[in-house]
Amino acid sequence: MRFFLAFSFLLLLACNSTSQTTVSSGDTASGVDPSMPDYRYDPPTDGTVEEFDTTTDYWKEILTNQEFNVLRQDGTEPSFSSPLNDNKQAGIYACRACGLPLFSSSTKFESGTGWPSFYQPLEPKYVMEEVDRRYGMERTEVSCARCNGHLGHVFPDGPQPTGLRYCLNGVALNFVPEADL
Ligand SMILES: [Zn+2]
Repeated sequence: MRFFLAFSFLLLLACNSTSQTTVSSGDTASGVDPSMPDYRYDPPTDGTVEEFDTTTDYWKEILTNQEFNVLRQDGTEPSFSSPLNDNKQAGIYACRACGLPLFSSSTKFESGTGWPSFYQPLEPKYVMEEVDRRYGMERTEVSCARCNGHLGHVFPDGPQPTGLRYCLNGVALNFVPEADL
């Protein structure tokens, strides 16, 4: 049983993997769900991030079950499951829960992991980074600085100029095309 659990955790934590997998490189938004609800895009007016604290009921009301599992319960989406993994459009990736702009398409890169990956956040103060020692590993968890929603993890094996790889769950993000900003 212990081995089974360990194996399950390895699958769950496959975000650590940097194995190169060829991914089709379409230059369209074909993978983006056009029926996606109009989630909030809510940049701070003066650049200051006010902490947003609310109830579990509120999150359950505005998030799907999978979004709730990732954002509020530190879950992980299956790799290659998010249409945003292949999204090559120019725009901003905001927090799916509170609308805070978090990452720019200009820092997105193909990591081969199956999760949307970026080499730096839009503003360092828009994300929180905290050491996560669960599952017998030491990783750095990345969360939204406004609503504390879990986004993913950051690893020190990304491309230059930062050398960082922000490995994120697509369901925790809302893509806003440049034209809509
Ligand atoms: Zn948020």
